[in-house]
Amino acid sequence: MATRCVPDGGLYTPRVMATSSRDPLPPGAAIGILGGGQLGRMLALAARALGYRILVLDPDPDCPAAAVADRVVAAGYDSVEGAVELARGADVVTYELEHVDAALVDAVEAAGVPVRPGAMTLRMTQDRLAERRFVASLGIATAPWREVGDEADLRVAAAELGTPLRLKAPYGGYDGRSQVRIETPGEVAGAIESLGRPAGTALLVERELDFVAELSVITARGLDWSLATFPIGRNRHDAGILVESVAPAPGPGMVAEAARAVGARIAEALDAVGVVAVELFLLPDGTLAVNEIAPRVHNSGHWTIEGARTSQFEQHVRAICGLPLGDAAALGPTAMVNLLGAGEPRDARLEGVADALADPLVHLHVYDKRRVFERRKMGHLSVAGAADVDEALARGRAALGRLRWA
Ligand code: ADP
Ligand code: MG
Repeated sequence: MATRCVPDGGLYTPRVMATSSRDPLPPGAAIGILGGGQLGRMLALAARALGYRILVLDPDPDCPAAAVADRVVAAGYDSVEGAVELARGADVVTYELEHVDAALVDAVEAAGVPVRPGAMTLRMTQDRLAERRFVASLGIATAPWREVGDEADLRVAAAELGTPLRLKAPYGGYDGRSQVRIETPGEVAGAIESLGRPAGTALLVERELDFVAELSVITARGLDWSLATFPIGRNRHDAGILVESVAPAPGPGMVAEAARAVGARIAEALDAVGVVAVELFLLPDGTLAVNEIAPRVHNSGHWTIEGARTSQFEQHVRAICGLPLGDAAALGPTAMVNLLGAGEPRDARLEGVADALADPLVHLHVYDKRRVFERRKMGHLSVAGAADVDEALARGRAALGRLRWA
């Protein structure tokens, strides 16, 4: 299997076993990450600061995390062989996306290397239907939903739930892909085919909610089961893709308290060690509904790098390495604006960086993706130090407007 060693291409240091599986991993130990996208990159950067070594499994040897990893195991997210190779050099393994085959996590665990969060958390959150049943079992609200297998089921569901609806594939969706909107009962015909899944695949259909805001709660759970919750983020999506977050989300303290309680309940019930993000809808009556659980660091938590005492990335590293969690308090009002790709697929060349950074409160993070295309997540901007989140957001948007892809 192809591997790439950075920076010296030399022999990889054997793994440092902790004396007990619950002992903290000392700096110099190696963290394996399944997935080498921007989340893996920012995790690796935080882990590096603590002195850990990084191995990444990703099909692309030039993935965003490659530049900050000691080694890339170039293998698919379904490669058990790749996972075993990763486990051979790692003291603990985590994942940066929930779409890795759960068999990889099983293989790492079978090799005697802990995976945090574990296989149960991954299985529960990579399948939207399993996730819905899990959330329902906790007595936490979601949009009213049904499992459907064919058009007849979908008609029944549309009659029972009303429209508009969102039809979602249980596996593999992100950034609004793998879902279709059904505006009226007349659009039921053909909706299943347009998702492009094999006939007979169980799908999730749910009522589209007329929410007041989208919020997210990011909770870290340590190896000692301690919890630390970041201030709630308020997020805006455009056609299913996150475009902006602000934190701490303005609004009644009771809503924030309720969101924190949901995050804690879910992280505990999943028995997760690491960061767990929960996407929420705030409804007109002031109640919350869970949209989605991500058993990992999350785009809506990128603001924590500059805006919180501990970033979500450092917090995740601390949790999976058995270290005490850091303070998750906000340093002040913060905004995060995603830098998306635009136009035809081509080599990525960003212009206007000096103009964007002319505002001294603006920070730029670029994920070093080699190719840019329409709506690809290429980086993000954050603004910390403004008087309030509205000012932070306005400055973030202004800076974003000065950036362009050549
Ligand atoms: P993904 O895995 O692509 O993030 P989500 O289920 O989170 O999929 O959907 C992406 C976005 O689409 C949500 O953040 C929200 O803006 C919108 N959306 C999804 N489901 C609903 C719903 N039931 N009601 C209203 N908006 C929804
Ligand atoms: Mg989502």
